[in-house]
Amino acid sequence: MALRMSSLFVRTQKEDPVGAEVASHKLLHRAGYIRRSAPGIYTWLPLGLAVLGKIEAIVREEMARAGSQEVHFPSLLPAEVYKQSGRWEAFGPDLFSLQDRKKNDYILAPTHEEFFTLLVKDLYSSYKDLPLSLYQIQTKYRDEARPRAGLLRGREFIMKDAYSFDIDDAGLDASYEAMRVAYLRAFARLGLPCLPVKATPGAMGGSGTEEFIYPSEVGEDTFVRSAGGYAANVEAVTSIVPDPIPFDGIPAAHVEDTPDTPTIETLVAAANADHPREDREWTAADTLKNVVCALTHPDGTREVIVIGLPGDREVDLDRAAGTGMLSTGEVDLEAATAEDLAMHPELVKGYIGPGLDLDHPVLGLEGSTKLRYFLDPRIVPGTRWITGANEHGKHVFDLVAGRDFVSDGTIEAAEVVIGDPAPDGSGPLELARGVEIGQIFKLGRRYAEALDLTVLDQNGKTAAVTMGSYGLGVTRVMACIAEEYHTEAGLLWPQHLAPADVHIIAAGKGEDIAEAAEALTADLEAEGVSVLLDDRTKVSPGFKFADAELIGIPTLIVVGRGLADGVVEVRDRFADDKRELPLAEVVPTTVANVRAAYARAAAAGDAAVVEDSIEAAIDDAEAAAASAEAESAPKA
Ligand code: ATP
Ligand code: MG
Repeated sequence: MALRMSSLFVRTQKEDPVGAEVASHKLLHRAGYIRRSAPGIYTWLPLGLAVLGKIEAIVREEMARAGSQEVHFPSLLPAEVYKQSGRWEAFGPDLFSLQDRKKNDYILAPTHEEFFTLLVKDLYSSYKDLPLSLYQIQTKYRDEARPRAGLLRGREFIMKDAYSFDIDDAGLDASYEAMRVAYLRAFARLGLPCLPVKATPGAMGGSGTEEFIYPSEVGEDTFVRSAGGYAANVEAVTSIVPDPIPFDGIPAAHVEDTPDTPTIETLVAAANADHPREDREWTAADTLKNVVCALTHPDGTREVIVIGLPGDREVDLDRAAGTGMLSTGEVDLEAATAEDLAMHPELVKGYIGPGLDLDHPVLGLEGSTKLRYFLDPRIVPGTRWITGANEHGKHVFDLVAGRDFVSDGTIEAAEVVIGDPAPDGSGPLELARGVEIGQIFKLGRRYAEALDLTVLDQNGKTAAVTMGSYGLGVTRVMACIAEEYHTEAGLLWPQHLAPADVHIIAAGKGEDIAEAAEALTADLEAEGVSVLLDDRTKVSPGFKFADAELIGIPTLIVVGRGLADGVVEVRDRFADDKRELPLAEVVPTTVANVRAAYARAAAAGDAAVVEDSIEAAIDDAEAAAASAEAESAPKA
């Protein structure tokens, strides 16, 4: 049934919603797709649901193609299971929680790993039942600290979440790959440019994860990429580690007076003035800076730690916290406060160092402070440093890593800087912004173990199942499509995602115009092409055009004055093309164009997978060539 503007439940708005910053938020509101109900919570109107339904249909098709079966869980769930898995605490204030009349704790689910695990545990018991992949498209709740930008970051939003269950690692790898391909296909079919970027598992744990990023200035995620195709979340970038340097011939460490040098800048100036090098100037990169930080563990305990990194680098606390190196579970890392420092008077502010020799360390668990000491991976054995001598106004020179000091572990804690080399050698890194539209995880056995999901394996022994989890933000994706496809005047949906295939405007008062528009509508609908007909009689053509531009259906048919000469105007808003067609040609031409657009979108899914496999093949070939080169190089 055609949609009719005379009766459709829509009132377009002239004004942007209060506080709206991004185009998708403004336009989805103004064009009458969504209405705000509360901060980060939206009501869906008919046009919004029409587009959402098309997005969901594509996601469903790709899930089915990947062998995943649809189920549906409640949003309202007993909190008990989330307490058992540790996520009642891990989600903290992001969790919407409530109590029933018997005072039992409930939550509005932020994601469903626990309940999928329990469902499979309930029904399956043998390795023969596996592999299994299940998914749902479901409303999620997260009390986000900063809901923003309309659908981009809601407190209620729709997610597609899938979960895979395998008996072994090879099975998990295959399930993960199938989902990865499904994501590439789905985003390509949705017309969204997207980049799979390496990420860090963080609190979820597990062995591998990628985020799918829609590159856009409106995004809150920073990622890096190289011209050669490397892409990673800032937290997942690994530094290129130099080879260790033999200690032979490096002079012994020596302490020097460096009065009034509490900063790297003052230290470098003093070193060049009073203790010059023969071969070149000292630079900040020659200094080892030791930053005191406060770590809050998931159980709430606070620990002071020290991170050592080259003095020309800033510490990136999020990156350090995201490595998962510092504790099990999600941690909070911040610069140490005056109170933290007051608890450790042995740390001489501005002159902190690891100590002068291995037998009497100052930092590290073996040291006099017993504070855990972590080092940037570039500080390899044999590198020489100027660093604090733990005495006011003194620094030590020629302190050699591995010879004079060691750490409790290396950690990627240094800020990634534009121009840093990509870890795979594919060129310098540039920083870019984007929106996370999906994330896929190899979870491993964490949830299976926490909730006791086991099956009998090939040998009749009990074995924990290994799992993957795969999220895709359906409503966020819709906002991203609106970001990608709009004009000054309004939305401009890809043809196959528009709320109707064709927008017909009856532009003029005559009976014949109304009748011709009705006839075109009926003929198109009979061919399976859906129509939004602007049949309003008391609205001027100018208003109708403005609404059509706002609503964003790319194919526009205008039945107006030309009808007297037997022609109708057909506009392709994407191609910015306007032509007059004889009335008899309108239906066959439009049907063909619309069908071609759907076919192109389907083909884009296939193309994305081919492209990805070509890229992977190139990467493999390059890696093989590089390792062959390394093989043939003379051994040092
Ligand atoms: P973010 O870092 O943006 O908060 P996340 O990493 O917490 O997202 P996941 O737990 O990985 O999100 O959820 C899977 C997907 O759900 C995300 O990739 C994203 O597309 C979507 N999503 C997450 N939070 C929101 C939200 N508040 N509003 C809309 N979509 C969201
Ligand atoms: Mg994520």
